[in-house]
Amino acid sequence: MSDTKDVTENISAISDRIASLLGKGSTDASKAAPAEAEKKPADGAAADDKAVELRKPTELRESSYDVTVTLADQQADPNSPLYSAKTFEQLGLHEDLLKGIYAMKYHKPSKIQERALPLLLQNPPRNMIGQSQSGTGKTAAFVLTMLSRIDYSIKAPQAIALAPSRELARQTMDVVHEMGKFTPVTTAYAIPDAVKRGDKVDAQLIVGTPGKLTELIKYKTLDTTHVKVFVLDEADNMLDQQGLGEQSIRVKNMLPKSCQLVLFSATFPDHVRDFAARIAPSANEIRLRQEELSVEGIKQFYMDCKNEEHKYDVLVELYNLLTIGQSIIFCGKRETADQIAKRMTQEGHKVDSLHGKLDPKDRDRTIDEFRDGKIKVLIATNVISRGIDIQQVTLVINYDMPLTQSAMPDAETYLHRIGRTGRFGRKGVSINFVHDKKSWEHMNQIETLLKCNITRVGTDDLESMEKTIKDALKSAASAPA
Ligand code: ADP
Ligand code: MG
Repeated sequence: MSDTKDVTENISAISDRIASLLGKGSTDASKAAPAEAEKKPADGAAADDKAVELRKPTELRESSYDVTVTLADQQADPNSPLYSAKTFEQLGLHEDLLKGIYAMKYHKPSKIQERALPLLLQNPPRNMIGQSQSGTGKTAAFVLTMLSRIDYSIKAPQAIALAPSRELARQTMDVVHEMGKFTPVTTAYAIPDAVKRGDKVDAQLIVGTPGKLTELIKYKTLDTTHVKVFVLDEADNMLDQQGLGEQSIRVKNMLPKSCQLVLFSATFPDHVRDFAARIAPSANEIRLRQEELSVEGIKQFYMDCKNEEHKYDVLVELYNLLTIGQSIIFCGKRETADQIAKRMTQEGHKVDSLHGKLDPKDRDRTIDEFRDGKIKVLIATNVISRGIDIQQVTLVINYDMPLTQSAMPDAETYLHRIGRTGRFGRKGVSINFVHDKKSWEHMNQIETLLKCNITRVGTDDLESMEKTIKDALKSAASAPA
């Protein structure tokens, strides 16, 4: 099934075409696509009928190559997860929060925000199990809930959100600060290296990771008496993963019985959902069907590689493509991420690696540099597979297919990994590297499970790849209007 020559030729052809699209020269006529083929809709465009209908009349007159669907278009389409019939004002939010929202340039709620917020804010408070695709604005739904429920005259912890990684906790805190900047909220981190031992935590809103929070509560540094809202972001992961699950439940058991439990994720595999329903009794539930999980804007490809070593060669050949926007390369092991980063760096490429074995300081520096665009290519493990929202990420590569602890294909992690691109209506590209029968089967099982389409990148698909990447570049370069 593997055809090395084909892949190598294909990559150089893709690189050439991208270079020419970017005006960086290299126009080998023999490699240029025939004019006839240019008129055919590329894969992505053909599948995107809705996008065609939504094009504005003025845009239709332009070359179809330059047409992008705006965010306003998507938010007006009832079938889009970004759609809402209501405005933020109609959701009953405090004026200070509306100011924060508008300062962030949110014009209209997304579907999950419109549906979840009224349920989350109702009194008496009800638990929530909320599901919505990656990049559709779940953070705002729970951050606005936390900020709405805090009694600002009480100087004690009242709202807690936990995330599976320090990177995600830090990002969520950034959202809290932006959204809450017109409120008097006080905040504190519960992540390693953020709180000095013995310092009392009396901030109203806490964002952290389960291990550190457990410690703070256990050593009575953080008083839970007034806690009203407890959020588990990436809830299926927080409840299912060994260690994380136990800690999250332990924290929950140390909180007041009346505390509102809010569980959010893009994925809720059945066994976790049952468990979630037990720990969050009589919860309001918002769920998605399996076929709704995939994000339309993320085009999925795979490449046949000859063997493990060849995956590295292919990655290096793709380097130019990786740096057009920004990209994340996901590996199964920390060692692999480090090795690839080291080799590529020695060969003169600018990349960095990120995984859980690094010091907190290094982790913070690396993700911050990536967020600021100082690093364009990040080679990582699953530690950043969930939640990380960096809009410039146009390309995600599964260098190794995601596997569960029992070495089964991990469809949830797959969805989260590719969901690092295609944020809030943007376009993105993901490429899976398969190099043997096993990895190919793993990918196939994921494709079947998610009812999604993963297209082989062959020479004949150059058009489609090129167009998708150009679209991805355009929408990443300028935030949708
Ligand atoms: P999720 O948690 O569902 O994966 P996020 O909460 O990280 O998604 O949101 C994805 C991106 O969309 C973020 O950059 C966020 O600022 C943006 N966003 C969220 N809600 C809105 C909105 N109503 N209007 C515009 N942008 C939004
Ligand atoms: Mg999220």
